[in-house]
Amino acid sequence: MALFQINEPGETPAPHARRYAVGIDLGTTNSLVAIVRNGFAETLPDESGRHLLPSVVRYLKDDIVVGDAALAAAAEDPFNTISSVKRFMGRGVEDVRHLGKTLPYEFVASESKMPRLRTVAGEYSPVEISAEILKTLKRRAEKTLAAVIDDAVITVPAYFDEAQRQATKDAARLAGLNVLRLLNEPTAAAIAYGLDKNPEGIYVVYDLGGGTFDVSILRLNRGVFEVMATAGDSALGGDDMDRAIAAWIMQQADIRDDADQRQLRRLLRAARAAKETLTIAMRASIVVERNGGDAWHGELTREQLHALVDSLIEKTLAPCRRALRDAELKLQDIQGVVLVGGATRMPLVRERVQKFFDREPLVDIDPDKVVTVGAALQADVLVGNRRGNDMLLLDVIPLSLGLEVMGGMVEKILPRNSPIPAARAQDFTTFKDGQTALLIHVLQGERELITDCRSLARFELRGIPPMPAGGARIRVTFQVDADGLLSVSAREQTTGVESNVVVKPSYGLTDAEIERMLRESIAHAHEDESARRLRETQVDAERLITAVQAALYADGDTLLSKPERTDIEMAIAQLRHLRDGNEPRPIQDGIRALDEVSREFAERRMNAGIRRALAGHRLNEFEASSKD
Ligand code: ADP
Ligand code: MG
Repeated sequence: MALFQINEPGETPAPHARRYAVGIDLGTTNSLVAIVRNGFAETLPDESGRHLLPSVVRYLKDDIVVGDAALAAAAEDPFNTISSVKRFMGRGVEDVRHLGKTLPYEFVASESKMPRLRTVAGEYSPVEISAEILKTLKRRAEKTLAAVIDDAVITVPAYFDEAQRQATKDAARLAGLNVLRLLNEPTAAAIAYGLDKNPEGIYVVYDLGGGTFDVSILRLNRGVFEVMATAGDSALGGDDMDRAIAAWIMQQADIRDDADQRQLRRLLRAARAAKETLTIAMRASIVVERNGGDAWHGELTREQLHALVDSLIEKTLAPCRRALRDAELKLQDIQGVVLVGGATRMPLVRERVQKFFDREPLVDIDPDKVVTVGAALQADVLVGNRRGNDMLLLDVIPLSLGLEVMGGMVEKILPRNSPIPAARAQDFTTFKDGQTALLIHVLQGERELITDCRSLARFELRGIPPMPAGGARIRVTFQVDADGLLSVSAREQTTGVESNVVVKPSYGLTDAEIERMLRESIAHAHEDESARRLRETQVDAERLITAVQAALYADGDTLLSKPERTDIEMAIAQLRHLRDGNEPRPIQDGIRALDEVSREFAERRMNAGIRRALAGHRLNEFEASSKD
């Protein structure tokens, strides 16, 4: 009989028993894969020694090409060569049309809200296209390690919402990868630098990539990274510098600006090469072919480059300022600045960042590998190769999650910044007598009123046994898994009827929208508070009116005299009138008045109720049951 072997606590598993799990940075411009071997994280190169895989997928009639070869073909085959697909992940058809306005791709709407891109080989969704990139990286890792790789930690921008996260997970599943966790990119960068080993601290992650700029402020507290603020510019990056340089070349080389697609691509390639050379050299020579066929030879100095890109770099500082302000921090509160993204190699970027934050940024880890390295370290922990809690890492919920309650208000169940995975239950009850169904409306946001929050899902709980208002006990549980995906369930406690929903919203929020929602919640905190008080009072009024009316209907004729009944009805009418006002105080007065005038009636009903309940029972029955 075979027995399972169990390691002695503290002992590392034998090499053959080791499970590999990779870390993947699925980037807008470039993607990478890394693995932890012998305790060190390293990114893995392809056969030609290149670590960065351009995030470009080219569809041919009967082949799919990913990476450098696809990038090289982008100029001659723009319709079938998809780059920057990350921008479309988890977005609806309309968003994608808008984002893709300047791109050559042809979008087709399909029955499922997900947009697809038309190519010679058929139509593909952003999820499928991303899956090709992931498959390529998975194969690369399997070749290098001569092992099957199933598990991965994949990074996503901190501002990615649930739809974008879900789309990333779907892409991984299509690629045959099991996602151990989706990890926020800035958090991954912080892990790569081992910042999570510090007891606490506040860190800035400045990420300037090819097409996007993101700045995040992280707070580390007892091993938990919390995203305090994010800001950025989704249309600013190294590519914009390339365009500025290309424009300069055109001017110098006297190339007319009606250059065709192919000529433009050539110019951009030359511009990018010159820019990257100038990171290590003071001058770069440039050769570009002109349309006539002759070549232009020129030179760009670092100084000239700086003049061309300075305003672009300057543009990254406004989001930095905004993030600091949103997090209510001063420069002195910052313990470290981490540089991420290929463009932060540029000396001028480093200089500007250092000056702005008034401190030397962390640059020791290659800025285009740092996110992948962090993801690999995290994957290694999650797969159990690293023991103990030497890295207990959690992310947080970016916007509060809650549900709609009476009066169009949001009751927050999981507050913003709760570490994930997170779960919380809260009990609710019915509003009306005999209510047998409940509509659960799930919302995201910081504001008090549902109209100011984002609706994520609605579902119904049916089959609640008819009971007086407030009699049913419905436990609603919110659960956010390690990847930031939300599931909500509702269960009536006495009968056990249950209903649930997994939230996969079909439209994404942009980083700017999240930012706006957070900003508005702060700006409206006071206003919201009084709006909430008003709504709560209105709901109380409504509840009392409903209850008293039901009582009048049931027992009014038998338990009340005519004048008594008239008094109560007048108080109801009065409260109904007051309820529609804008001030809570008069409504509260109305509630008190109706409460007082109907108190006697309520007592009579209770006594009558007890008499009814007692009829036909012997007294000792009740004595017996009250003993236990
Ligand atoms: P993304 O996160 O969007 O996938 P990356 O972090 O890979 O992007 O950054 C790509 C950008 O970094 C490109 O614009 C590229 O030109 C730029 N870049 C890479 N290396 C250098 C370098 N040595 N000097 C200047 N810019 C660089
Ligand atoms: Mg990146």
